[in-house]
Amino acid sequence: MVIKESKGDLLHEGEWRMGLIHGRMPLAIVRCPSCGHRFPIVHHKIAADGTVTPELMCPSCNFKDKVTLEGWFEAVAAVEAAHGGK
Ligand SMILES: [Zn+2]
Repeated sequence: MVIKESKGDLLHEGEWRMGLIHGRMPLAIVRCPSCGHRFPIVHHKIAADGTVTPELMCPSCNFKDKVTLEGWFEAVAAVEAAHGGK
């Protein structure tokens, strides 16, 4: 499924938002579309186009699915631009 990027202050169920580790390393935080639990995507690979591998599993319920983070590429580019990164 496609996880949409949060556009407001609230992170709704089934959305993701950019968090930063050490203020500069991209970290995707998602809210489970099934139970609403909020958790960071760690121990996964996120491709440039936002495809998350392996399947995402919610630590709080039995939700499990192949997901794609909509807008991931742009969000990472914005972080890198903000930090003059490579
Ligand atoms: Zn859940």
